[in-house]
Amino acid sequence: MDLQTIAIHSGYEKDSQRTMAVPIYMSTAYEFRDVEHAANLFSLKELGNIYTRLNNPTTDVFEKRFAELEGGEAALATASGMSSIFYAIANSAEAGDNIICARQLYGGSLTLSGHTLKRFGIESRFFNVKKPQEIEALIDDKTKIIFFESLTNPSIDVADIEAITAIAHKHGILTIVDNTVATPVLCRPFEFGADISVHSTSKYTTGQGLAIGGILVERKGLVNKLKSNPRYPQFNEPDSSYHGLVYCDVPLPPFTLRARLSLLRDIGAVSSPFNSWLFIQGLETLSLRMKEHSVNALKLAEFLESHPKVNKVNYPGLKSNSNYEYAQKYFDDGASSGLLSFEVNSLEEATKIVDATQLYSLVVNIGDSKSIITHPASTTHQQLNEVELDACGVPAGLIRISCGLESIKDLIADIKQALEV
Ligand code: PLP
Repeated sequence: MDLQTIAIHSGYEKDSQRTMAVPIYMSTAYEFRDVEHAANLFSLKELGNIYTRLNNPTTDVFEKRFAELEGGEAALATASGMSSIFYAIANSAEAGDNIICARQLYGGSLTLSGHTLKRFGIESRFFNVKKPQEIEALIDDKTKIIFFESLTNPSIDVADIEAITAIAHKHGILTIVDNTVATPVLCRPFEFGADISVHSTSKYTTGQGLAIGGILVERKGLVNKLKSNPRYPQFNEPDSSYHGLVYCDVPLPPFTLRARLSLLRDIGAVSSPFNSWLFIQGLETLSLRMKEHSVNALKLAEFLESHPKVNKVNYPGLKSNSNYEYAQKYFDDGASSGLLSFEVNSLEEATKIVDATQLYSLVVNIGDSKSIITHPASTTHQQLNEVELDACGVPAGLIRISCGLESIKDLIADIKQALEV
């Protein structure tokens, strides 16, 4: 089936009411038929609902639909994009291990890897996403994952996914790709060798800035990479916290199973059924919206490129952009999503331009139908010093735009007047 059909139908089997819309199951818990039924559910002899911290019928539709869109085997919805990233990492690594991360990451992922994980005893080592050849020297026996974004926020680079995943496969290491900005409509990282994808569904999936959520997706056949792999004893030895279960020995996708049974159970950053329902609505139009976001962003980028006050425009859909070839290779029809950034001379100039826009909202979000303007150096990346800012591609004069679905004529007119103030 085509993506647009999957996005509308997949994962939903109508219940006795035959509702066309997926129902919102607002229920904390589910009644067992009898004690044997309860015991069977807990021991995984039978699969079914137990408690909404572990699973929920509305969330289940969202997970199945998203997994199929991404070309994966199974998915786990979470309370936010950050919790899906944390679960993906915590499912792979523990105290004493290290992870290898791209330097060009979303600000929250940078503070998670550079600071919070350190407090949990997990070391993060960084590489330039434009130089995958830096990765190999960082790998040792304790390396558990390579983590990067397919389309980076806010530096707007496109990762050479095949080059990175080839290095990871050579060493039997898992790759985790944050595919938030590209979405499965434009890019499906599993087709290029990735193992796990994570998303902030707070962005394009909801599409109108309605809710916070995240999702983690496992590729098909990941069990073969995990089984007997000495890097990942947690998938090959009995889990004493879950009746001695060996995750690679049960016929269920092991990565999401362990994330659900241990991390979701014990940490509980679960998607609310109402939010899952909102994300299901968002998926129905995701493919139409991503095409339109990409068309608008390209036109805006072309305008900015021609403006004398703009030193540089970062948008992979521009032929002049150093990421253009990768955008053509990894994104459907080279469509490059709605995120672009441009550089002006100084922090002062950037501030003036941002304040002068009227149609763009000054918000730290992306992926809304309403256009958004941000100044990363004073907001999302405020914790970083000037050297760190430059290293992750965020100079002080950088302005980021999440191009929405308004008329492109109006969007260009507003940015034009702001540049001329
Ligand atoms: N990943 C990327 C690429 C993001 O842009 C964001 C948020 O902006 C996140 C992850 C975190 O997502 P959330 O805000 O849903 O926790």
